[in-house]
Amino acid sequence: MSHSESLFEEAQKYIPGGVNSPVRAFRGVGGTPIFFKHAEGAYLYDEDDRRYIDYIGSWGPMILGHSDQRIKDALHAQVDLGVGYGAPTAIETEMAKKVCELVPSIDLVRMVNSGTEATMSAIRLARGYTGRDKIVKFEGCYHGHVDSLLVKAGSGALTLGVPNSPGIPASLAEHTLTLDYNDLDSVRETFSRMGDEIAAIIVEPVAGNMNCIPPAPGFLEGLREVCDEHGTVLIFDEVMTGFRVSLGGAQGLYGITPDLTALGKIIGGGLPVGAFGGKREIMEHISPLGPVYQAGTLSGNPLAMAAGLTTLNAISEPGFHDRLTEKTSKLLNGLKEAAKASGIALTVQQAGAAMFGLFFTDEPSVSSFGQVMNCDVERFKKFFQGMLSEGVYLAPSAFEAGFTSAALSDADIDHTIEAARKVMATL
Ligand code: PMP
Repeated sequence: MSHSESLFEEAQKYIPGGVNSPVRAFRGVGGTPIFFKHAEGAYLYDEDDRRYIDYIGSWGPMILGHSDQRIKDALHAQVDLGVGYGAPTAIETEMAKKVCELVPSIDLVRMVNSGTEATMSAIRLARGYTGRDKIVKFEGCYHGHVDSLLVKAGSGALTLGVPNSPGIPASLAEHTLTLDYNDLDSVRETFSRMGDEIAAIIVEPVAGNMNCIPPAPGFLEGLREVCDEHGTVLIFDEVMTGFRVSLGGAQGLYGITPDLTALGKIIGGGLPVGAFGGKREIMEHISPLGPVYQAGTLSGNPLAMAAGLTTLNAISEPGFHDRLTEKTSKLLNGLKEAAKASGIALTVQQAGAAMFGLFFTDEPSVSSFGQVMNCDVERFKKFFQGMLSEGVYLAPSAFEAGFTSAALSDADIDHTIEAARKVMATL
């Protein structure tokens, strides 16, 4: 029995399913989850001292790679000053200023502790601001485990077959209208019937929780128009895409200005952080300026701010995202070639600098939830397990986007492509 297997057995005695977040349990791919001991640069090291090239990056935050010296130094310095005060600090303002500079649609920003808190608060704010109850989301998009948003959700909810979670009152879920991603006609049709009752549209501007689906040309523009016509708040959930697809996120990449933005992952540099922000006029409705209540004991925690701000400063270096774009393209071209060599139908999709999707399908491009559901999940599982035994750690689900990091070397990417060649030949 491997160390990971025995640790998993022990974990299951005390933790539901042995994990603190469901996708980690490997239910989407079978087998035993790997337990990790340490991580450095592009690599994760497991409890059996095996090394893996990492394409998950702690589900997004680690765009610099693991154990970056700059982050470690910032954290050590802050630890010496105290780990939290529950009172204002200079570093929070520095962080807020940096976010407002990088994401021009954000005039004011509030720090929270997770992506879930960020979307939950943005939805409450949109409802409080408009005085309306209904919201629109898209099938297969995941916005954290917020009650109103766990309706036809993606990510682990999709992987585990529970897109509509029990425990959410029907009287709440009925206010969530779920439409098809990239289908602007259905959005227009819905708004023509009830647009003036809809507080917000929340959307992943690149869908990353049903694999990786970029917005169809005109989709985000159309959402902006519809929201303007109906006084509806447009919320971009950039928890995943923020600072990843480009320095200014998906809104910077595609040139669309949302009213509110939810952030997470990279903004915390690996520590638990989220944020939501946007137009001054809307954000001024948040407590203590306005009546929409929102708070957090640990919000703006100085350790989390130190890791996050250091990350944002590092990725602001000129050329950072261009270099990542090249790395990601090199990886995807290589994987495509590897599949071709074995006659395997594989479609690859890249969103901006550091986000990608692999689809086992004959379709030349994948732009809808329906197409994602038609991909060959069984083949993905075999591919995943094969890559794992070759020392490559991909997301353990056919419905998650992949992430590249600045720590990946050309040799790491070559190793990954070589591994894929071997594995594809066995599929
Ligand atoms: N929104 C998106 C787009 C996400 O991908 C996630 C998490 N993967 C969340 C929200 C929720 O973030 P958290 O897990 O930090 O609560």
